[in-house]
Amino acid sequence: MEQDILNLINGALVPAQGGGWLDNVEPATGATYSRIARSGPEDVEAAVSAARKAFPEWRAWSPADRRAVLMKLADKVAENAAMLAEAESKDNGKPVSVAAAVDIPRAEHNLRFYASAAEQFSSESHTMGDGTVNYTLRKPLGVVGCISPWNLPLYLFTWKIAPALASGNCVVAKPSEVTPMTAYLLGSWAKEAGLPDGVLNILHGLGPEVGQAMVEHHYVRAISFTGGTATGAAISALAAPKFKKLSLELGGKNATVVFDDCDFDEAVSTAVRAAFSNQGQICLCGSRILVQEGLYDRFRDAMVAKVSKLRIGDPMDPATKMGAVVSRGHRDKVLAAIDTARGEGGRILCGGGRHQPGEPRLKGGYFVQPTLIEGLDHRCVTNREEIFGPVATLQPFKDEQEALGLVNATKYGLSASVWTQDLKRAHRFAAGIDTGMVWLNCWLVRDLRTPFGGTRHSGVGREGGYNSMKFFTEPQNVCVKL
Ligand code: NAD
Repeated sequence: MEQDILNLINGALVPAQGGGWLDNVEPATGATYSRIARSGPEDVEAAVSAARKAFPEWRAWSPADRRAVLMKLADKVAENAAMLAEAESKDNGKPVSVAAAVDIPRAEHNLRFYASAAEQFSSESHTMGDGTVNYTLRKPLGVVGCISPWNLPLYLFTWKIAPALASGNCVVAKPSEVTPMTAYLLGSWAKEAGLPDGVLNILHGLGPEVGQAMVEHHYVRAISFTGGTATGAAISALAAPKFKKLSLELGGKNATVVFDDCDFDEAVSTAVRAAFSNQGQICLCGSRILVQEGLYDRFRDAMVAKVSKLRIGDPMDPATKMGAVVSRGHRDKVLAAIDTARGEGGRILCGGGRHQPGEPRLKGGYFVQPTLIEGLDHRCVTNREEIFGPVATLQPFKDEQEALGLVNATKYGLSASVWTQDLKRAHRFAAGIDTGMVWLNCWLVRDLRTPFGGTRHSGVGREGGYNSMKFFTEPQNVCVKL
């Protein structure tokens, strides 16, 4: 065992009170390499109590002081970037090059962005013309819960805790039990960065054991959750009768829409990236590729040629483009989805099964070939349900109207990427799409100030910029008769 992953409660790294542990597995090898504290309601109680105790002091800190502390935490991420990238790659199976270029720099950026937001956040006032003025206070909520998934572990963990802390809340956070390492490491630097004890608490363990206890806890005023749609529904059912604020960032079944006037080379390479980055395990991945019929054959052949050349293998090899999927269970789910596609009559254009790298070290790893499928109707399960792995389908469409119908044909509404050089069509089409986010001639370009989130089964609420700062604060209007 390399390292025990401990809870951070009231400034101390401690095991779960119940003494339980979970195995932490390296997806590229299938080997257990550390133990995770298996926390329960008693640990939630301790964390919430520490957070409540810390709140009066923390909320009184000036925005400038909160900013300084979050910047110091970001400095720790920057100083340890190479080590964090390796840890993320080992824990998740993603290529270390991706962790080093995307996950860790973006985690650092989240902390810096919301550190600045602490000082820039403002609230409104409304004058009534008769000498009456309303001003709105934005008060931190108190203790808030942040629950994050395994696909972009430190990136999404910091996306939540940074605005929660910047706006003056004390946090009880839970990273995914599948990828807890980098959140643990971040927590281990909290004291050194200057966060008072109890302001940031991090609990590890299983969702239904520790996550649910967080959602149910009386003093946890809000839950910011990113994860699967079914989990989001379970959390909503628990939180609604307790009138908690909820931000839910859930699953997606996003379309990449390619019109025949697109910039061909850029559309092909971005469609490949959008489908297979992070082994297809990004909520924003374009897993349904819709191509106008005149361009379909050429586009399909170009995609297949590119995907067949993607280098899949050891995540620690800097040349690797695709690593392992996150767990054995997830690999089996993805393989079962490919079988379903076959059963539904899909033609596998490339991939279609497990990948076995040559290195003996990787013999037990969870590798899946990047897989492209065509010939499936938009109503079939493969084109309706999220797979969240390296699997994408291709569907032809005739015209704009048919394309719009296909884009909006699932219960999800997270994002879409549209490729056309016709400016009018681009804007018209974007406005017709029922998703929270649309990229025109690009994909996954992120400005942290913009509203991030989905419609329908992709979630409720928006995060990003002021949206997050507003979520983590309660507005209180004060009306003054002068
Ligand atoms: P998941 O729902 O299984 O788990 C997410 C987190 O919730 C984990 O920390 C887990 O322990 C916790 N959890 C599980 N059950 C719980 C419960 N009953 N109560 C409280 N907490 C509970 O999701 P996952 O498999 O880790 O992540 C993959 C999913 O996340 C995909 O569906 C993906 O689309 C989605 N996702 C969405 C976004 C977005 O921004 N919309 C971003 C990334 C991932």
